[in-house]
Amino acid sequence: MNRFDVIIVGAGITGLASAYHLKKMNEKLKIAILDKKPAYCQGNTAKSAAAFRNLFSSDVNRKITQSTIEFYRHVQNDLKIDLGMHFNGYLFLGDRKFIDNPTFKGFVEEGIASYVSEQTLISAGFRTKLSEEEISVMNLSNIEGGLLGLNCGILAPEKICEFYGNELGKMGVEFYFGTEVKAPSLQPVTPLNYPGEPFVWQKTVLSTIETNRGEFSASDFIFCTDVWTSDILDSTGIDGHTRGKKRQVFQISGPEVETVMGTGLIEGQNVMTLTILPSHEIVLRPDPESHSIWVTIADDYNRNFSTTEDPQPERDFYEKSLFPILTAYFPQLKNSKVSSMWAGYYAYNTIDKTHYVFRDKNIIVATGSSGSGIMKADAIGRVVASLQGGIDKTVLFGDLVIDTSDLGIHKRKVKEEEMVI
Ligand SMILES: Cc1cc2nc3c(=O)[nH]c(=O)nc-3n(C[C@H](O)[C@H](O)[C@H](O)COP(=O)(O)OP(=O)(O)OC[C@H]3O[C@@H](n4cnc5c(N)ncnc54)[C@H](O)[C@@H]3O)c2cc1C
Repeated sequence: MNRFDVIIVGAGITGLASAYHLKKMNEKLKIAILDKKPAYCQGNTAKSAAAFRNLFSSDVNRKITQSTIEFYRHVQNDLKIDLGMHFNGYLFLGDRKFIDNPTFKGFVEEGIASYVSEQTLISAGFRTKLSEEEISVMNLSNIEGGLLGLNCGILAPEKICEFYGNELGKMGVEFYFGTEVKAPSLQPVTPLNYPGEPFVWQKTVLSTIETNRGEFSASDFIFCTDVWTSDILDSTGIDGHTRGKKRQVFQISGPEVETVMGTGLIEGQNVMTLTILPSHEIVLRPDPESHSIWVTIADDYNRNFSTTEDPQPERDFYEKSLFPILTAYFPQLKNSKVSSMWAGYYAYNTIDKTHYVFRDKNIIVATGSSGSGIMKADAIGRVVASLQGGIDKTVLFGDLVIDTSDLGIHKRKVKEEEMVI
């Protein structure tokens, strides 16, 4: 029997950050992390477009991204551990109405973003005026300006996971890979050893889980299982509140791509600014190491909710849906080629599109990252640790504070997030 104080199911970035902050808070905790994959960060963390921003419409999302970004910056700059972070900015493009929206104005007033003129964008190589046909057939808008997020950019999730993973090794956290947790049932706190237990009048907790590698017991269980949370927890009657939707990334390369890679708008940065095209929110994410661009989109309609083990990318989707829009704004990409592609899942909180971190009995759940789990992971790990330790206020990196219950179910304090991309 493997017995621990805390068992974390899921060795993605959320599980690792949670274990790290649990140990920082209480070094005596005996912690195990279980994952069905052969190593850490092989789930959606490995499929991410790996970008970060502190531009969110809800206060809590601004705080948890700001603090996580600053923590990663601290690791890279002060601890000298390369996390592949580039502060190359986030550029939202659109027509006048879009750029002048009140949320963007607020970012500029706060000093976390600045406006970019159409003229600057033309000089950077953007085609800002489209043909009438492109506008009417594909529902595109002209580019009349941009909003540039200043404390935003790209990073390497595998390096962040390696940082947490190495620290956890030193702290004595045990990893069990290739360990699939089966849908558990709650067990009686005081077993009577009578067939059919637990009865509805018995107090129940989760004390033991079954896996393909035997049973594991713990005082507390933490499920950082992202899009698979409901698959595991449904049998307990606890709702995971999250649904999965496939999201794809298409890597394009070639000499034409390298010309677009030059469009860096942040002073002192030689990496292309991550760019969000108008109308359909197609994201162009530079990958400086491979001299390529990753193209992705959060397409909502006619994209069903699902959670298979290994979602597949669809080349046809790229060619028919993304390529025509891409080449309307960047005609120079007409001969670019898809050199690689992959797909993962967004774990959507379909109500306010922000994480859920809550406790029910001795089970803590951290899920619902809604497409921004890398850029929030350190803060989420701290909230998990507070919840496990019974601490009401969570102090985030940089001394930002949120109520631990803000991301919970019963005392939730989150406005619906408008900026999910
Ligand atoms: C295409 C795409 C682009 C994205 N872009 C960004 C971005 O730019 N920036 C950003 O911040 N986020 C982005 N995301 C979202 C981000 O990838 C996720 O929010 C984040 O990786 C979630 O981390 P996690 O640790 O919660 O989940 P995961 O990394 O999925 O980890 C969950 C783990 O649980 C394990 N598990 C599940 N069930 C079981 C079981 N029964 N037994 C044992 N183990 C189990 C899985 O194997 C997995 O390793 C993107 C996602 C996708 C798909």
